[in-house]
Amino acid sequence: MDYVYKNPNAPIEVRVKDLLSRMTLKEKIGQMTQIERRVATPFAIGNLSIGSILSTGGSVPFENAVSSDWADMVDGFQKSALQSRLGIPLIYGIDAVHGNNNVYGATIFPHNVGLGASRDAELAQKIGAATALEVRASGIHYTFAPCVEVCKDPRWQRCYECYSEDTEIVRKMTSIVSGLQGQPPQGHQHGYPFVAGREKVIACAKHFIGEGGIERGKNEGNVILSYEELERIYVAPYLDCISQGVSTVMLSYCSWNGRRLHSHSFLVTEILKEKLSFKGFVISGWKGLERLWSDFPNSEPSGSDYRNCILSAVNAGIDMVMVPFRFQHFMEELTSLVESGEVPLARIDDAVERILRVKFAASLFEFPLTDRSLLDLVGCKQHRELAREAVRKSLVLLKNGKDQSKPFLPLNRKAKRILVAGTHADDLGYQCGGWTKTCLGSSGRITIGTTLLDAIKEAVRGETEIIYEENPSNDTLERNDISFAIVAVGEAPFAEVFMSGDSSELVIPLNGPGIISLVANRFPTLVILISARPLLLEPWLLKKIDAFLMAWLPGTEAQGITDVVFGDHDFKGKLPMTWFRRVEDLDQQADGVKMHDPLFPFGFGLTYSKD
Ligand code: BGC
Repeated sequence: MDYVYKNPNAPIEVRVKDLLSRMTLKEKIGQMTQIERRVATPFAIGNLSIGSILSTGGSVPFENAVSSDWADMVDGFQKSALQSRLGIPLIYGIDAVHGNNNVYGATIFPHNVGLGASRDAELAQKIGAATALEVRASGIHYTFAPCVEVCKDPRWQRCYECYSEDTEIVRKMTSIVSGLQGQPPQGHQHGYPFVAGREKVIACAKHFIGEGGIERGKNEGNVILSYEELERIYVAPYLDCISQGVSTVMLSYCSWNGRRLHSHSFLVTEILKEKLSFKGFVISGWKGLERLWSDFPNSEPSGSDYRNCILSAVNAGIDMVMVPFRFQHFMEELTSLVESGEVPLARIDDAVERILRVKFAASLFEFPLTDRSLLDLVGCKQHRELAREAVRKSLVLLKNGKDQSKPFLPLNRKAKRILVAGTHADDLGYQCGGWTKTCLGSSGRITIGTTLLDAIKEAVRGETEIIYEENPSNDTLERNDISFAIVAVGEAPFAEVFMSGDSSELVIPLNGPGIISLVANRFPTLVILISARPLLLEPWLLKKIDAFLMAWLPGTEAQGITDVVFGDHDFKGKLPMTWFRRVEDLDQQADGVKMHDPLFPFGFGLTYSKD
C-alpha cells in the first residue's frame, strides 16, 4: 500500500503527519513508552506498539555477550516491531557513555572528565564517531550520551560523567554530538534532529538541567539558583547540542529551587522546547516519574499518586517515559488521563510527532536491522589507537621532581629494575570505572584491554625487570636494586546509585595513602592516581613522592599512560576542575566563591617542554 510515511523521498514532516494520522491512541501511548529488555515480549512490542526498549547497565543478553549477540537480540525485537499494525520500528537504547561500554570487546575510552582535561574538541568528535560505529555494529540505535552538565562539586557521584566545572570547556566537548550523529549539512533547520545514516547513532544530551550544581553534591538533590545563573552556567552546552541536531534530551532527577525537573513545565516546555527550539524528544530518567511521588527512589507509587505523577510529567513536556512502573498500567492510566481531558490529546500528538521525527531522521524505517558489515569495527585497532591517543591527551602532570630543577619524568625504559605496585596497577575494571559492563562497574579482567602493568611491560620491551606486587612485601621493600617505583592507586568503580566509601570525605580509598607512603619511603616514586575526580592529598604525602600524575578513568588502553611517562609524547592535559585542599573548600566553591587556596588550580598541568 502506498502510505506516504513509507516513502523515503517524502519530507520527514510530511511522513510524521501522515503516520500520526493513522495511529490509534493506544498506539500513540505505546510509542511514548520505553521498557526494559527483560519485559519486552513480542506481545508488548507487536500489540502495544512499544516505542523503545533499553538495556540499562548490566542488562545484557548474557554475561560477556559480544556485538553480534547484541545485534541478534536487538534485531529479534525489531522484527516483532515491524510486524505491528503500522510496522513502526523501535529504538533500542543503551548507556554507551565512554565507548560501547556494555559490550564485551568494545573499545573503552576515558570517561568524560578525562576528555575535559584534553580540551580537544576534534578528539571528542572522533570518539563520538568511533562509538557510533561500535554501537550500531551491535544493533543498538540510541545512546544516552553525552552528559553535558557542568559539575561544580566532585562530591557528586556523577562528576566523572561531566567534562568540566567550566561551561566553556563543556561547550567545546559537545562536538561529540556531531561525531555520534554526523554533522548536519548547511541549512539544516535549528532544533530538528539529525542522524546521518546507518553508521551513526541517536544521541541524548543529559541530564537537563543544572544538576552539576546540586547542593553539596547530593545526588538527585536540589539546585538553588536564580534563572539568570542557571542560564549563564548550564544552558549553553544544551543549546550547542541542539544546534548540532541532537535528537533527544534526558531530564535530570534533580530539582530546581525545590521543584523536580520531571514536572517542570517552565524549564521543559517553555525553555527547552520553545525558547531553545528543541524539536527532538524529551525522555525521562529511569523510573523518573516515580520520583515525583517520593524522594525515596525505590518506593513505588500507586493509585491516584501514580496517576498524578503521570499527569504532571506528561503535561510538563516529557515525550517518552523510561521504564514506567508496571508499564501496561502506566499506559492504561495515561489513556484514561487523555480520555478525561486532563492530558490534552494535542500534548500526546506533540510527543508522538517528536518520537516519529527522530525515527525518520535516523532512517529506521529504511534500515531497521543491523548492518553486519560493521561488526569488524568493534574493538578494532584504529579505535584502540584513538582511545590510546585520548588517554595520552587526558593525563595531567601535577608534580615532576622534588626539586624543580631535577625532573623525575620521563622514566628511563632501560632502568635495571622497576617496582610496580598498588591496587590500580593491574585492574582493567578499575581503569574503566563505573558504567562499564554494569552501571556500577567492577574489578578485574572484565573485557579486552591493556592494564597499566601490561603497558609498562610492553614499553620496556624486556630490557628492564618488572617486579609487580599490589601490596609490596617487606622483602621487596628491603631490596636496594630497585631503580624506582610506579604506584597506581585510586577509587573502586561507582555510579549514581552506589558509592564505594563516603563520598563526602574524598580520601584516596583502599589504603591508597598507606601504599604510597610505604613505597615512597624506600624508592623514588611516581604516583598515578586512577580515579573519577580529584581526591584529598595530604601535603606531607605529596612532598614524599617524586612525581604525581592524574590519569582519571582511562579505559582499556593504558599504553596511553606509558607513551607519556616514558617520554615518547609530552603531557597535554590541564585540570578540568579545581583540585581542592580541604573538603570544606568545596562548599565555598559551590556557593559561587572562587576557591582561594586550591592544591592545584583549575587549568594546572605541567609539561616536559618549557613553553
Ligand atoms: C540515569 C541515566 C541513564 C538512564 C538509563 C538513569 O537513571 O540517570 O544517566 O542514562 O538511567 O540507564
